[in-house]
Amino acid sequence: MNIHEFQAKDIFARHGMAIPREQVARTPEDARRIAEHLGVRVVVKAQVHVGGRGKAGGVKLASTPEEAFEKADQILGMDIKGLTVRQVLVAEAVEIDHEAYVGIILDRQTRRAVFMVSAAGGVDIEEVARETPEKIHKLAVDPLLGLMPYQARSLAHKLYADPAVARQAARMLTQLYDVFIESDASLAEINPLVTTPDGKLWALDGKMNIDDNALFRHEEIEAMRDPDSEEATEAEARDADLSFVKLDGDIGCIVNGAGLAMATMDMVKFYGGMPANFLDIGGSSNPDKVVTAMNIITSDNRVKAVLFNIFGGITRCDDVANGIVTALNRIAEGPGGPLALPIVIRLTGTNEAEGRRILESVGLVAVDTMAEAVQKAVELGEAGR
Ligand code: GDP
Ligand code: MN
Repeated sequence: MNIHEFQAKDIFARHGMAIPREQVARTPEDARRIAEHLGVRVVVKAQVHVGGRGKAGGVKLASTPEEAFEKADQILGMDIKGLTVRQVLVAEAVEIDHEAYVGIILDRQTRRAVFMVSAAGGVDIEEVARETPEKIHKLAVDPLLGLMPYQARSLAHKLYADPAVARQAARMLTQLYDVFIESDASLAEINPLVTTPDGKLWALDGKMNIDDNALFRHEEIEAMRDPDSEEATEAEARDADLSFVKLDGDIGCIVNGAGLAMATMDMVKFYGGMPANFLDIGGSSNPDKVVTAMNIITSDNRVKAVLFNIFGGITRCDDVANGIVTALNRIAEGPGGPLALPIVIRLTGTNEAEGRRILESVGLVAVDTMAEAVQKAVELGEAGR
């Protein structure tokens, strides 16, 4: 789960990191009031889950409360990379002498938290990574030892020549590591980490990504979820305990098991189609889940065919078949009438014969192999385009 800049910086501040005084506004009037209250030059920043807000015009300085009103008015409602800005952060503006980048990611290759730091921070860090990767220093942290003080100092000295500044940076890197570990983050980033002319360090921008599977033990972070920033269908799926990721294609996939779901998407691509989603209905035998899954998938009007790929183990084929029939009935009773989309079903495993019998009783056919099912779904999807 992604959180907003102001939320990440809140967490940073609780760990002792220096962040500017700031507050969130949902209206230009609020922005003016906050600027008045701060009593200094401010920066008005779009709060959306995407980087590069500065370049997109979503970060603007304002010298007076009136100007803060105007900038907030410009930024609120703005579209940044497909996301509508619903709130802005009004922060005390900081005088910048230098911008550095510091970040920690969970690296799958080394299976460790990896620091990435660069003295060439700011808005163009992606370009630095591409063109001059040698300017980015990396360090993989041993999970048992944690970030050792000498490692923090060594990274800090790669960023700053001034020992007094490097000392502050070493502390900040340690705090960032603590934030990363304690929050079960997969990413924690400060860009820019700025130095002011008087030699102080500030975290001016914060970005964090939290492991969804750890959210159950972070109530305060779960509460930061912004419904405006996520797909309605993804929220619906989460409430129904389905793992669902929306994609851009037109073959709707309903699969049991994450591995089989991944393999199904690979097969769809292999046969020239594009999956509309990743959806794992899990190992349970609950027909309600199938109904929810069908609703989610058929609400996407790009979907041209629905593909079920069920390998019955703990999940029983007859339960899934009942779920499919129930879902089709409910859809047929709905305002749109019977489902117009073609459905391809591959059912195999526990109670397979019973499952097939249930499907056949309503005129649906289950195919035998995964390859056959996927090919058929891709063909039907193409025909529907
Ligand atoms: P991003 O573009 O989404 O990463 O947004 P940032 O919060 O990183 O802001 C982009 C850029 O705006 C920063 O790299 C700074 O150059 C500039 N900026 C942000 N806050 C301030 C500030 O308080 N003072 C000054 N002078 N510039 C700022
Ligand atoms: Mn930034």
